[in-house]
Amino acid sequence: MRQSTMIIPTLREEPAEAEIKSHQLLLRAGFIRQLASGVYNFLPLGKRVLRKVENIVREEMDRAGAQEIQMPSLQPAELWLNSNRWNTMGEELMRLKDRHNRDFALGATHEEVVTSLMGDVVDSYKKLPFTVYQIQNKYRDEKRPRFGLLRGREFLMKDAYSFHESYESLDDEYDVLFNAYKRIFERCGLNFRAVIADSGAMGGKDTHEFMVLSEIGEDTIAYSTESDYAANVEMAPVVASYQKGSDEAKPLEKVETPNAKTMQEVADFLGHSLAEGLKAIMFIIDEQPVLVVTRGDHEVNDVKLKNLYDAEIVELATEAQTREAMGAGFGSLGPINVPENVEIIADQAVEYLTNATCGANEDGYHFTNVTPERDFVVKQFADLRFIEEGDPSPDGNGTIQFAKGIEVGHVFKLGTLYADKLNANFLNQQGKTQSFVMGCYGIGVSRTLSAVVEQYHDEAGMLWPKELTPFNVHLLNLNAKKEEFVEIADAIYEKLLDKGLEVLYDDRKERAGVKFNDSDLIGIPYRVTVGKRASEGYIEFKHRDTGEQEDIHVDRLVDFLH
Ligand code: ATP
Ligand code: MG
Ligand code: MG
Ligand code: MG
Repeated sequence: MRQSTMIIPTLREEPAEAEIKSHQLLLRAGFIRQLASGVYNFLPLGKRVLRKVENIVREEMDRAGAQEIQMPSLQPAELWLNSNRWNTMGEELMRLKDRHNRDFALGATHEEVVTSLMGDVVDSYKKLPFTVYQIQNKYRDEKRPRFGLLRGREFLMKDAYSFHESYESLDDEYDVLFNAYKRIFERCGLNFRAVIADSGAMGGKDTHEFMVLSEIGEDTIAYSTESDYAANVEMAPVVASYQKGSDEAKPLEKVETPNAKTMQEVADFLGHSLAEGLKAIMFIIDEQPVLVVTRGDHEVNDVKLKNLYDAEIVELATEAQTREAMGAGFGSLGPINVPENVEIIADQAVEYLTNATCGANEDGYHFTNVTPERDFVVKQFADLRFIEEGDPSPDGNGTIQFAKGIEVGHVFKLGTLYADKLNANFLNQQGKTQSFVMGCYGIGVSRTLSAVVEQYHDEAGMLWPKELTPFNVHLLNLNAKKEEFVEIADAIYEKLLDKGLEVLYDDRKERAGVKFNDSDLIGIPYRVTVGKRASEGYIEFKHRDTGEQEDIHVDRLVDFLH
């Protein structure tokens, strides 16, 4: 493409609204422009990179055997009412009405639509298992849209959903997609880790986040210096519900926690230190949330809670109810004795922690699959066992370090949660009607683009990895006003195009300084400059990342571009 004709509105000044490098650079280099808070236009350079990220995702999903589909963003409220997420998603769900005053949501995610669709079109186990995906804009009215593409209100996501007859089959597909995700983020050149999203929690193995390591990340990861152990330390996911007297944990859907406080804040409030190993578990008893904060070296993982005697209990139900419920035991926990001398924390602590740990819905908590046959719902926060840097890793290998991460992908075993709610059934091998067992798998495509810039830039601009660069080569003609040089540069341009390379050709009648600055800012890996020595057949070849440069003969140019 000839740069003279392209819309690349570069900015001299640092945009005041951008707090982080990727946001600043994408704006300054003319890749994106904001339309409204958290809503962005992609200009030609931005669109080219976005398409490359998308293509990597598409290639790897196809390779993993997933089928691409496209579902609507405009979704009738009925579906969301059936899953109860019309109530639980709160203000993050964008809602609108049609001319007949009927309620709709703009797709924030597509579990409801895909479950109802497949319930409709698949009626036999013979079609199972399968995985479908789409790459499409999502809408979430984020409380704090920020950091440009990292937290938008309209953003590009790849979302995939798998359908199975059995949990074993789900486990297999989860592994397949987990590996596809690894390949995707490796191809994007990212330094990332797959982390347990609710480490130390029951069912914790059933959800992982892919985190790009970055200081501006909003998540904190605890990882082992010696092994693959890595976990998100946020207190977020609702993990499992237990039926009284049964060992079987049923996964609950994740409840968003927009007001989540860090465990440090909770610890400060309670006047304790994180080093004590604070944990919190939410019990729902008689539909009342009860928060139990414990400290000491106990194993939530093995659900023994052996040191509960050291625990502090914060209750929202009556104290008696709490004791009774815990005494009765729940699921595999068995009876737990709560001694008389446990500390009860003041009312304002209750309020603080409640607001801190749950979405502030007007009518309190919503756990959408609280069904009558389940006596207790256990809400276990992810890894509230706060380990300090240098402590032994929970898997016994090495010590714990902390890092900040940007969540670019998330894989989750849903089980039959949505199929149950939306009545999505098929005939299984025994000829019986059964709910689909499902998994869901997301990647933030536009967020990934930003995360790449966070990891690849220097003082002068962006440094695109080869798979994602908007063009393979940046060709600069420093004498665009002189016919002789124009001919030479045009000929090189044609030759590179013939070789199938994507070339950005700076044919503008601008000063050399302007061209070099823009070129550094845009960050294409190879720069070819037609300058003084062009008439002798020499051009300057420069690597954007290392700054390494040399004069080479035009005839050798193509050999340098691999
Ligand atoms: P976060 O914790 O950052 O709010 P999430 O857990 O709500 O993300 P998921 O529901 O897991 O997000 O969605 C799948 C993926 O979509 C995320 O892993 C992330 O990469 C991307 N994503 C989510 N919200 C946004 C957003 N507001 N802007 C850009 N990408 C997003
Ligand atoms: Mg979110
Ligand atoms: Mg998240
Ligand atoms: Mg997530």
